[in-house]
Amino acid sequence: MTGTHKAVVLQKKGQIGFEDRPEPEISDSHYVKIHVKKTGICGSDIHYYTHGSIGSFVLEKPMILGHESSGVVVEVGEDVSLVKVGDRVAIEPGVPSRYSDETKAGHYNLCPHMAFAATPPYDGTLVKYYLAPEDFLVKLPDHVSFEEGACVEPLAVGVHANRLAETSFGKKVVVFGAGPVGLVTGAVASAFGASDVVYVDVVESKLERTKQFGATSTINSTKYKSEDELVTAIKSELDGEQPEIAIDCTGAEICIRTAIKVLKAGGSYVQVGMGKDDVNFPIGMVGGKELRILGSFRYYFNDYKIAVKLISEGKVNVKNMITHTFKFDEAIKAYDFNADHGSEVVKTIIDGPE
Ligand SMILES: [Zn+2]
Repeated sequence: MTGTHKAVVLQKKGQIGFEDRPEPEISDSHYVKIHVKKTGICGSDIHYYTHGSIGSFVLEKPMILGHESSGVVVEVGEDVSLVKVGDRVAIEPGVPSRYSDETKAGHYNLCPHMAFAATPPYDGTLVKYYLAPEDFLVKLPDHVSFEEGACVEPLAVGVHANRLAETSFGKKVVVFGAGPVGLVTGAVASAFGASDVVYVDVVESKLERTKQFGATSTINSTKYKSEDELVTAIKSELDGEQPEIAIDCTGAEICIRTAIKVLKAGGSYVQVGMGKDDVNFPIGMVGGKELRILGSFRYYFNDYKIAVKLISEGKVNVKNMITHTFKFDEAIKAYDFNADHGSEVVKTIIDGPE
C-alpha cells in the first residue's frame, strides 16, 4: 500500500487548498512515476482559479492544479524503454486518445478525448508523484535545470506557432502581444532564423522585456491613432518592407486587423491568443493576398523535443522568463500573487514537494 501526498487543489472557483491525496501507482506498463521538482504557473491556471472555467472546460469537482512541470523518474512500468529511474525529464502534460481521428490524422493536440493536466476533469502536476506515459517525457540534459524544464511547456507553444507559420532563416516576423506566450513565440522565431522580430504591445514594461526574447524592434501601439498608422509603423521598422509572418498572441481585434493588413502577399497569419469569440477583420484581403490563416493550439509531435533542444543549445534562454519563485508550501500565495499582479509576472515557478 502506498501513502498519501500533498496536492495543491483548486477546490472551487476562487478557492485553492492543500489536500492529502493517495499516491498514484503505475498500472499501465508504459507509464512512469515522476517526482515533480518544478512547476510553472500558467495563465490558464489563474483563469480557472478566478473564473472556474475556460470555454467549455468547467470545473465541476476539485482539481489538482499545474501542468508545466519537470521532475525526476522514480519508478518505471515493466515495458518502459525510453527513460529510466533517475532521468530528469520535462513532462508533456496532455495525453491524447489513441483512437481519435485527430490523433490518427497527425494532430493529437486536437484530440477531443485529450487528458490534459489541470484541465477539468483531469488532475494536474502540483503533487509529489505524477504518472505519465514514457513517450510524453523529454529527457533534460545535465546542464538544463528543472526550472528550465518547467518552461518547456510554454516554450513548446511558441515552437508550435512557429512551425505552423513555417518561420525560417531570413523571414520577417511581427508578434502581437508581449505576454508570456508572445515572448516565447518571438524567441522561437528568432531561434528559427527570422531576420526581424517586431513586437507590438500596449505596455512599455512588457516591450522592454522583449529584448531578451529575440526582439529586433518594438512598437508601443498606444502611440498610434489608427491601425493604418500602426501598419505604417511596423513597415518602417522593416525598412519599408512587409512581414511574411504575423503571429497574434493577444486575440485583440485591432491586432488581428493590423496583422492582416500589414502582411506581405502570400504571408502567414497564426492565431495563438484567445480573446473575444467574434471579431471584425478584413477578410477581403485574405483572398487577394492569398494569406494562409492558421490556428495554433498547444503543441503536438516533436514540439516538446524541439523546445528542449532550443534550451539545451542556448538558442532560447528561458531563465529570462522566470520572474518569481515560491516554495511548495507557499503555492496558494503564489496563485494569489499571480492573480493580483498579472502584468508584472512573466513566469512563476513553484518548487515540487521534497
Ligand atoms: Zn501552460
